Amino acid sequence: MKHAIVIGSGFGGLAAAVRLGVRGYRVTVLEKLDAPGGRAYVHRRDGYTFDAGPTIITAPYLFEDLWTICGKRLADHVKLRPIDPFYQVRFDDGDVFRYSADLDAVRAQIARIEPRDVEGFDRFLDKSRRIFEVAFAQQAEQPFHELGALFAAAPGLVRLGGYRSVYQEVSRFFRSEKLRLLFSFHPLLIGGNPFTTTAYYCLIAHLERTYGVHYAEGGVGALMNGIVDLVRGTGGTLRCGAEVAEVLVEGGKARGVRLASGEVIESDIVVSNADAAWTYGKLLGKHARRRWTDAKLERSRYSMSLFVWYFGTRRRYDDVYHHTMVLGPRYRGLLDDIFKRKVLAKDFSLYLHRPTASDTTLAPPGHDAFYVLAPVPHLGSGTDWRERAEPYRQAVQRRLEDTLLPGLGDSLTTSFVLTPQDFHDRLSSWKGAAFAMEPQLFQSAWFRPHNRSEEVEGLYLVGAGTHPGAGLPGVVSSARILDKIVPDP
Ligand SMILES: Cc1cc2nc3c(=O)[nH]c(=O)nc-3n(C[C@H](O)[C@H](O)[C@H](O)COP(=O)(O)OP(=O)(O)OC[C@H]3O[C@@H](n4cnc5c(N)ncnc54)[C@H](O)[C@@H]3O)c2cc1C
Repeated sequence: MKHAIVIGSGFGGLAAAVRLGVRGYRVTVLEKLDAPGGRAYVHRRDGYTFDAGPTIITAPYLFEDLWTICGKRLADHVKLRPIDPFYQVRFDDGDVFRYSADLDAVRAQIARIEPRDVEGFDRFLDKSRRIFEVAFAQQAEQPFHELGALFAAAPGLVRLGGYRSVYQEVSRFFRSEKLRLLFSFHPLLIGGNPFTTTAYYCLIAHLERTYGVHYAEGGVGALMNGIVDLVRGTGGTLRCGAEVAEVLVEGGKARGVRLASGEVIESDIVVSNADAAWTYGKLLGKHARRRWTDAKLERSRYSMSLFVWYFGTRRRYDDVYHHTMVLGPRYRGLLDDIFKRKVLAKDFSLYLHRPTASDTTLAPPGHDAFYVLAPVPHLGSGTDWRERAEPYRQAVQRRLEDTLLPGLGDSLTTSFVLTPQDFHDRLSSWKGAAFAMEPQLFQSAWFRPHNRSEEVEGLYLVGAGTHPGAGLPGVVSSARILDKIVPDP
């Protein structure tokens, strides 16, 4: 049997391993950490289960597909439950917007803020659908390693206004600044600045509304572990604690990897789910590269990073919703600090995750499990996180005490953080970016590191740093692209 090595066990790597296994490859997944998942790693501490990263599941059909190709049904193994409202947004003035599947309920809340924007909302949803039909349904699974694919896609994408930013596009439909913020923040979920991310990402509104927003019973880790079972079911092997130090190249072709331990593992193809910039800059660091040279990697723009604080409380906060955005006083100014000036601001906008609102098994009885995240600049800011992490965590705690979680300090039981330095050291992310390269127009599709490496034959890329990009739908789609570009074994 032909042997495929997959470097990394994020959602993209695991989905790739399933697909290659089904096609008849003998697959070995090599994971640096002690357990799979990557950004979706699961921390179990003091009776709590914390999903480290993704929490909002959209496009469940992409996961169903992995079970289907294995001749199984996802529903028999993992329970995905739709959640409605999708999420709540708390503005700095205390106003709360419940963004839900119920269109009339959304229209009524828009009318309360700006009655003239109700018809704009309907037009925006229509635009979001049109973008989705081209940019996601047609392009997300299109390999973009040939310029021809770009030229073929360009006219349709230009017609849709992809040269505009998400914020500019949204502003064409909404007069109210509050509503412009509400309908434009989505790129932040995949590491993009709404003021510079291409308007294609307006498609997220349609994606959420058409396929729903879901959570997995037992946490996102249950979904991730379900995919690990699929990998094993197709005869694949997952080796944790196996850090790849180098992709071995012979005569311009990938022939295996060398682990940090010195062990050499040979293979017919290598699929890297490690960060794309890291793959080129470090794993192929010694190899002469035509396109992804050190200078090009340095010039590229990387997404923001995140400060994530995981904590448990000995009480429940029953009026706090499963997903809440806790917005701060500034929008554009804060994003300029994060993406342009790269300074750690004193104020922040937060996303608060309370999975125990929907699934009490994730914490001891009567307790809540939480995480809160704040977008922050990547390591280009020069912030020393070893020094800054605790004061920053305390500031986040104060903000939560003043807004949604009174008495938080007295009810904390367990607490730990993930900083941009951890994204770099633990997850091997270039500049500690949380979502790989920024999803700007000239870093998308053909301009992004290709799924079929342009540097080395037999090397393929999946995950957030390659096409189509970050987020669970994106990385699982990148694995689907392999079916089109990896030869049969
Ligand atoms: C806090 C947070 C919240 C998020 N929320 C959402 C959400 O709600 N919904 C959503 O859709 N998306 C969300 N995202 C984005 C989403 O989680 C990611 O885009 C996606 O999980 C990335 O998957 P990936 O396939 O690129 O692999 P990753 O998860 O990045 O995994 C890559 C793996 O490769 C391993 N690796 C790296 N280098 C090596 C090496 N040299 N040798 C061996 N192994 C190596 C790493 O240890 C890691 O396990 C969130 C991200 C974060 C950080």
